Amino acid sequence: MELSCEYEYMNEGLVDDELKCSICHHPFVSPVSTDICGHTFCQICIETWLLQQQTCPSCRRRVLASNFQPVSTRIVLNLLNRIPVRCISCREINIERGNFNDHKQQCIKRIVSCSFSNLTCLWTGKQDELSQHERTCPYRQVQPIVDELQNQNRKLQTTVQKQAEQIRFLLILLNNGKLMNQSCIQDDYCQVFRLSPDEPKCNMCRSPTRHINIAVHHCDDGCLCKTCYQMYYPS
Ligand SMILES: [Zn+2]
Ligand SMILES: [Zn+2]
Ligand SMILES: [Zn+2]
Ligand SMILES: [Zn+2]
Ligand SMILES: [Zn+2]
Ligand SMILES: [Zn+2]
Repeated sequence: MELSCEYEYMNEGLVDDELKCSICHHPFVSPVSTDICGHTFCQICIETWLLQQQTCPSCRRRVLASNFQPVSTRIVLNLLNRIPVRCISCREINIERGNFNDHKQQCIKRIVSCSFSNLTCLWTGKQDELSQHERTCPYRQVQPIVDELQNQNRKLQTTVQKQAEQIRFLLILLNNGKLMNQSCIQDDYCQVFRLSPDEPKCNMCRSPTRHINIAVHHCDDGCLCKTCYQMYYPS
């Protein structure tokens, strides 16, 4: 019924019986006590007990889960936190129980995974065997190649994207057969410069463009602003 199986008590016999749970007979873990009779148990122990019967295990009075509150008495919690334990994994001794979670974070026997696990290395093992594994991990040789490929792939994506924009630009310039021009080809009818009351929109960037900023247009319809034209015109 002990909550944690990652440490063991070093000298449980020296722990005052007042600090032990009458259900599991170990020092309290997350102790709770009733407002009916004041008896105290580990939270997990009494929760399990109350599933069977709604009485206090010590005095048999009727109690409900709602009668239990966490013990907040400093001195009790401090005594519990200071109980010395031994790490089952690394055998380190004299760890204060309250510090055991900190110990777990840095325990040399904790289970870790290979730092090449992003390359699907499935190795897991103890922290103090990690560097030995990584020296010989087959994925170690692959890592630079993968890095290089990813790098090339990124460059390639940029190139492809630039080319796609270049193609879009050329298609806009071709304007469905009504090729855009730097000057008017039919001055009297020019929809873009003469007859349009609004600022025409650049077909590439879609922003309204003042006449002075139009680089090319077709008199029927369509134009490109100077910014887009200079950016995409293949030079
Ligand atoms: Zn208990
Ligand atoms: Zn009781
Ligand atoms: Zn340890
Ligand atoms: Zn590995
Ligand atoms: Zn534009
Ligand atoms: Zn025109």
